[in-house]
Amino acid sequence: MQEYVLALGANLGDREYYIGQAIEAIRTSCGPILRQSRLLETEAMGAADRPFLNGALVIQSPLTPAALLQELLQIEKNLGRTRETRWGNRTIDLDIILWKDERGDFPSVKTPTLTIPHPELHKRLFVLEPAVEVAADWRHEEKQRTLAELLREKQKSG
Ligand code: ATP
Ligand code: CA
Ligand code: CA
Repeated sequence: MQEYVLALGANLGDREYYIGQAIEAIRTSCGPILRQSRLLETEAMGAADRPFLNGALVIQSPLTPAALLQELLQIEKNLGRTRETRWGNRTIDLDIILWKDERGDFPSVKTPTLTIPHPELHKRLFVLEPAVEVAADWRHEEKQRTLAELLREKQKSG
């Protein structure tokens, strides 16, 4: 069955609570959690002005990428996520980072509402570090790199 790496982020209210609730909702509406990273405390970025907790999951799911995105957006909404400013504070942010299909390939997706691999993945330590904990050998085919290699290169370049 196909698998996904998801990134989780929270920087409002009880961040651990929101992340815990999101993981439970993902388990119920998307599929079983195969691996879960530790949570990492990271600096505010963009228009956000409070520190984040970030983490990553590998899930197994029968959902297509588009259907999975819809479920994640609904879970965000149920957990009080609002979008006032781009990259603003949020109770929970759930992004699809990578997709491994049932053949073990890592297809890309480019539609107006969904891009996989996540377009900012290689630029963000707060995504790469947790993602490498759960899926070090997954590949970004366009960049011809594994997640572990992308992390190493990002750490070198700063
Ligand atoms: P960023 O995408 O830079 O991390 P963000 O997570 O704060 O920013 P959101 O406001 O949560 O951005 O999402 C805006 C839209 O991004 C979503 O409604 C969704 O359609 C789109 N999107 C595109 N690719 C992805 C992806 N891989 N995972 C989640 N959302 C995506
Ligand atoms: Ca995001
Ligand atoms: Ca998002």
